[in-house]
Amino acid sequence: MSLQTATAAPAEELNPFKIAQQQFEIAANYLDLDDSMRQVLKNAKRQLVVSIPVKMDGGQVCVFEGYRVQHNVARGPAKGGIRFHPGVTLDEVKALASWMTWKCATVGIPYGGGKGGVVCDPKSMSKGELERLTRRYAFEIAPIIGPDRDIPAPDVYTDEQTMAWIMDTISMVRGHTELGVVTGKPIALGGSQGRGEATARGCLYAVREACRVRGITLRDARVAIHGFGNAGANFARLVSSEDGARVVAIADSRAGVYNEHGIGVQAALRHKAETGTVAGLHNAEPIPRDEVLEVECDLLCPAALENSITLANVERVRARIIAELANGPVTPAADRVLFDRGVFLLPDILANAGGVTVSYYEWVQDQYSYFWTEDRVRDTLEQTMRTAFADVYAAAERFRTDMRAGAYVVAVSRVAEATSVRGIFP
Ligand code: GLU
Repeated sequence: MSLQTATAAPAEELNPFKIAQQQFEIAANYLDLDDSMRQVLKNAKRQLVVSIPVKMDGGQVCVFEGYRVQHNVARGPAKGGIRFHPGVTLDEVKALASWMTWKCATVGIPYGGGKGGVVCDPKSMSKGELERLTRRYAFEIAPIIGPDRDIPAPDVYTDEQTMAWIMDTISMVRGHTELGVVTGKPIALGGSQGRGEATARGCLYAVREACRVRGITLRDARVAIHGFGNAGANFARLVSSEDGARVVAIADSRAGVYNEHGIGVQAALRHKAETGTVAGLHNAEPIPRDEVLEVECDLLCPAALENSITLANVERVRARIIAELANGPVTPAADRVLFDRGVFLLPDILANAGGVTVSYYEWVQDQYSYFWTEDRVRDTLEQTMRTAFADVYAAAERFRTDMRAGAYVVAVSRVAEATSVRGIFP
């Protein structure tokens, strides 16, 4: 690192698990939690590391490393997605698992937190290789997952096909069809209406509340979206088609595009489906992908990976509201800068909780073999998100703090209460 970069970007903690623990401590201090409770809630209950041998198309065998972490199960079975990405680490999965604990508690669904990950580059693998990787990973984590133990779901670079393979593998191992072992499944396999867009739709409901308390109207509001996967792309579609917002900037993992008058979202979705990227989109100018975080806008949605907004770029962020569609995109140090500047930030454990909330509805439907209409899913999700926003906003007001600390206060107090009434075994 050159001296210049070293001075330009002050040192800050970037390890996601350490960050998750810092976020927890802020709430623990507000709640005056004793040290024993802090120790219990800060650490992951169970961490499984597996080696996954996969026959590649060329005939050779590659061994991948995979993880499944269960952070806390005080309020119900562990719940959380599985990520396939070359940058996955055990500490990242531990952070993501703990964020799931707080997320499920924030929206009041009866789960703890879990997460899984495999270190691999799915973009360079064939469908056959991915299927074999997924099935062997599912087999390796089979002893600790199940509808009443730990329920995986999609996350970065996994989707409903991945979930179908896991459900089938676990069903083969157990000897009967086990619908509720994963959520985010295809509709044909006990998936739920509305699960595909649920993360984005839940975020839209939270953003509407944020706009209401901030006196901002979403019609024609300028929106920048950093990350154009399931969450970011669906959010662009919903916020423009349902609320008439103007999506001015989009970035995916390869490129950024900008048009101050508004990017045609349908055209962007088609272009992405056809070419795999937003690069080269007509009627939009190319910009470096990380500049999408810095365009002047009313609403910024970091929808990619952790640590997108740090001390290195937070001074250049020019949004009025930030809604974290990704997990962990803003560091604690950047949080403080944004709060001091009056930016309203909807934290991940609230803003992107719509995904796991509809996962919960899917799991309930699977248990009853009775399936809901899309309208019922949407209405119930809206109720859940509005209630969660109100709870978090009230906690933030009460402690005169930001919405992240407000959400952690709500979540940590719920998990701490469950832990203390259960007691410590034995
Ligand atoms: N991976 C998503 C998340 O981070 C969804 C988890 C789930 O549906 O269990 O919230």
